[in-house]
Amino acid sequence: MNTQSKSSHADFETKNKPLFQFFTDGIKDLYWAEKAIESLLKKNKSLAYTEELSDAIEDHELQTQKHILRLEKVFKHLDMKPEGKKCEAIAGIIKEAEETVSDTPEMSMTRDAVIIINAQKVEHYEIASYGGLLQIALTFNLDAIADLLEKSLLEEEETDVLLSEIAESFINLEAAEENEDDNEDDDNDKNDNKSSKEGNKQKRATASASA
Ligand code: FE
Ligand code: FE
Repeated sequence: MNTQSKSSHADFETKNKPLFQFFTDGIKDLYWAEKAIESLLKKNKSLAYTEELSDAIEDHELQTQKHILRLEKVFKHLDMKPEGKKCEAIAGIIKEAEETVSDTPEMSMTRDAVIIINAQKVEHYEIASYGGLLQIALTFNLDAIADLLEKSLLEEEETDVLLSEIAESFINLEAAEENEDDNEDDDNDKNDNKSSKEGNKQKRATASASA
């Protein structure tokens, strides 16, 4: 028996099973989702107030690009062209994320707290999808595909943990101290000295490091 074909490619019988149909649809769903998430991360990177959060988002944006490439390899193992299928769940999470972030004051810890929760909703969807599809790949003895899915799964899990750590280390506490009129002061500051967002981020990072 050719082990290479056993571990990489589904046989004719497998390809006709409803579970395998669901599996390939799930990969298409994730492919669409990862591309939408990449755009969301690009936007959120510049919306984040603290350096800690924008750096974490930037790192995950790079990982997300790798996730897209890994899924393209999965399609290759499946002898399929890479093709996305709209993921209604992620489309909904992203829509809600954009609405909730736009309701927060610009350059605030509250905004960062909200960005983190939204990002974790995305990560949890990805973790459930990669985790479940990985198990189905193993069930069908598609080991090479399972390996690719597992690599991305581990990075999604690490990102989720990192986001919790950032929120819990200082962002939530500082967000809880913010008041509605804080933002007006920020606006005045901006007009006074046109202090850049980078400058504010730097100030924030220093303040939290010395706290
Ligand atoms: Fe991802
Ligand atoms: Fe992710």
